[in-house]
Amino acid sequence: MKKIVMFDAKAYDKKWFDECNGGRYEIHYFESKLNIETVQLAQGADVVCAFVNDDLNKDVISKIEEMGIGIVAMRCAGYSNVDYKSGNGNVKFVRVPAYSPYAVAEFAMGLLLTLNRKIHKAYNRTKEYNFNINGLSGMDLYGKTAGVIGTGKIGKIFISICKGFGMKILAYDLYPDTEADYEYTDLDTLFRESDIISLHCPLTEQTKHIVNEESIGKMKSHAILVNTSRGGLCESQALFNALKEKRIGGAALDVYEEEAEWFFEDHSEKGIRDDTLALLTAMPNVLVTSHQAFLTEEALKNIAEVTLQNIDDYFAGKKLENEIV
Ligand code: NAD
Repeated sequence: MKKIVMFDAKAYDKKWFDECNGGRYEIHYFESKLNIETVQLAQGADVVCAFVNDDLNKDVISKIEEMGIGIVAMRCAGYSNVDYKSGNGNVKFVRVPAYSPYAVAEFAMGLLLTLNRKIHKAYNRTKEYNFNINGLSGMDLYGKTAGVIGTGKIGKIFISICKGFGMKILAYDLYPDTEADYEYTDLDTLFRESDIISLHCPLTEQTKHIVNEESIGKMKSHAILVNTSRGGLCESQALFNALKEKRIGGAALDVYEEEAEWFFEDHSEKGIRDDTLALLTAMPNVLVTSHQAFLTEEALKNIAEVTLQNIDDYFAGKKLENEIV
């Protein structure tokens, strides 16, 4: 039986992979993230299965090649952590391009509503029988402008949710949808005119730090930034400074530039050594979640099904529909 070694595996991965596997593969679940120190765990495997914060750099990929493993199955959509162009071409990389764009878009709106209307603070107050509502006011979303960067699968759903709230849309994408029923604009106008900016583009050389000192300088002083895409889209220090100096209204972040060392694990006993993340998390106008926008039962089931199908196709010598090329 072919053997899959899964890194950064959590209980929810095990639940859905075991259910969808139906005994066709031997799956070994490791909680450790994949990096140069842990790659050795894949010795003897036929497949490496990795996730968003695993580090598939050149050296790790070269070790995987040395072990004679022919396929790396990413159980996620983004692959900015995979140096897939390195290596000798003997390893195929596959991914799950879409598992539930609704999960991410709905979560983005959830973050926006929570931060804007301070629901997280109200929850904490009422837990202690503090029913005071001073300081909990937000703004109506109705009539406000949502700037959406990246109008692919997730961005489009986020737009339709915003339209349901009666918001005006300003969109930006390298490849605008010619049949869209919303307005595309340039980045400069989007940053200047939006009350809410939500990021839904991938992390690429072009989009790295698309939110930086300069673009933040264009934003309205009450604007809320929502990032459910990739941490590297925002220059963390510039964002922190702007939030501290109240040059923008707030930020809801499901992703963080240096998240790989911290996210998905419990650091509540030891604390964290990343001062920017620690300060961002503590700020009153910031809401940080741990890269959980994808986390719905539907998405987890789709991830398991598509990942196993990708692996089936590889061993059956079929065309790899979801190959990273
Ligand atoms: P998608 O490929 O369907 O859409 C991405 C869109 O971004 C495309 O329309 C593309 O043209 C556009 N784009 C590419 N380069 C751009 C640029 N330089 N400027 C502006 N637009 C650009 O992807 P998707 O399924 O909508 O996912 C979007 C992102 O969401 C992913 O890249 C991933 O990073 C992130 N994501 C996060 C989670 C989570 O749990 N937080 C889960 C899934 C996906």
